[in-house]
Amino acid sequence: MRTIVMGGGVIGVTTAWYLAQAGHEVTVIDRRDGVGRETSFANAGLIAPGHSYAWASPRAPMMLLRSLFSDDTALRFRLRADPRLWAWSLRFLANCTAARNRANTAVKVKLCIYSREALIALRKDTGIAYDETAKGALYLYRDRAHLQTGLANMQLLNDHGVGLKELDPDGVATLEPALAHFKGKLAGAIYAPKDESGDAFVFTEKLAEMCKARGVAFQLGTSISGIAAAGDRIDGVVTDKGRFAADHYVLALGSDSPRAARGLSVKLPIYPVKGYSVTIPTDGFDGAPMIGGVDEQHLVAFCRMGDKLRLTATAEFAGYDTDYEAKDFAVMLRIARELFPNAGAFDRPSYWACLRPMTPDGPPIIGGTRYKNLWLNTGHGHMGWTMACGSARIVADLIQGKEPDIDIGGFSPARY
Ligand SMILES: Cc1cc2nc3c(=O)[nH]c(=O)nc-3n(C[C@H](O)[C@H](O)[C@H](O)COP(=O)(O)OP(=O)(O)OC[C@H]3O[C@@H](n4cnc5c(N)ncnc54)[C@H](O)[C@@H]3O)c2cc1C
Repeated sequence: MRTIVMGGGVIGVTTAWYLAQAGHEVTVIDRRDGVGRETSFANAGLIAPGHSYAWASPRAPMMLLRSLFSDDTALRFRLRADPRLWAWSLRFLANCTAARNRANTAVKVKLCIYSREALIALRKDTGIAYDETAKGALYLYRDRAHLQTGLANMQLLNDHGVGLKELDPDGVATLEPALAHFKGKLAGAIYAPKDESGDAFVFTEKLAEMCKARGVAFQLGTSISGIAAAGDRIDGVVTDKGRFAADHYVLALGSDSPRAARGLSVKLPIYPVKGYSVTIPTDGFDGAPMIGGVDEQHLVAFCRMGDKLRLTATAEFAGYDTDYEAKDFAVMLRIARELFPNAGAFDRPSYWACLRPMTPDGPPIIGGTRYKNLWLNTGHGHMGWTMACGSARIVADLIQGKEPDIDIGGFSPARY
């Protein structure tokens, strides 16, 4: 069976891996000269079922409204003359009820847990190393009332077996000595003992090498301009290097999936939500944390990856723009210095910005379409690294006509 995977990010490459394992003859097409060069390049690295809440929540409309009039680092929502943003925003608002938030979070957390287990199995089977740590994650609270909100929400994830625990400031300092100096400023933390972390880009590159060893072809530097359909089947991918044909096609182009699918009868309400990331070298320093996590007050994520410390922040609605300036990282760097003053060379930062492929309700879009040989694996938003292995296994199972291990109703493309 010949299968084309459109997109060589972490989602496309893991999909290629599980399909190759199942005996498919796979070709991955990507416009970059290497895999994992866009959103999967410099994310926060957290494998985080412990942070898998849906963004659409009863608090979200007020946060969006406030951000219209402030220059916040965490959320930058601006009204633009972009009909896709308006349509996405209306759908997002419709998902901001407590009931929808609970339902969407339940769908996400189940996939996150399934995916983390798939990643652990893949690691055991292949020995793949990607600066991973399996020591949990720390969600830090500076304010007592905010911590109480976090603890109230935590039950929702614990009902699904995430195993989150409250830690007092001493407990945080014992678990993560790099934060001992800061414990007086903390109200406490929520600890997710089974969360993990690692460099998604290193993982994607190494898995791609393993894919190649199993015969997967990588058609890189190749830009997809469209997908050609004939009746109820796809009969080719149109690119600047010609047309590519196969028996099955998987769309895994992240934020660009809706653009490539234009002209097909497939609804993909995915909007790009820009995030910023900065990476600091840590060699020669001894104050970087061993456990990744999030400063919940500022929504800055932190994660050590080997000899570097990664910080990420900001959800900005700026269309497909990925530009950045040094000033976009100033708050993030200030928080990093505050939390981990001896972590690394703050004067040698590497900057990056990229686009989270967000659906309005939160879960990704995984499954078949009205075209019998077109499959979707896209829209993983802020959690694509966590969800990659599970999503890829599900798609590989579906293409082979096998029942996936978990209920996939909540990811169905038919929900739109
Ligand atoms: C700041 C930030 C922090 C994050 N932190 C975390 C985290 O801690 N944990 C977590 O689980 N997730 C995190 N994420 C989310 C995660 O990074 C994404 O969900 C994930 O990388 C999406 O992977 P993807 O393969 O769908 O998209 P991408 O990695 O963007 O891959 C899509 C690929 O398609 C290619 N492509 C696009 N258009 C075309 C075209 N027309 N022709 C050919 N090729 C094309 C691109 O080159 C790219 O390689 C974070 C995201 C951001 C922005």
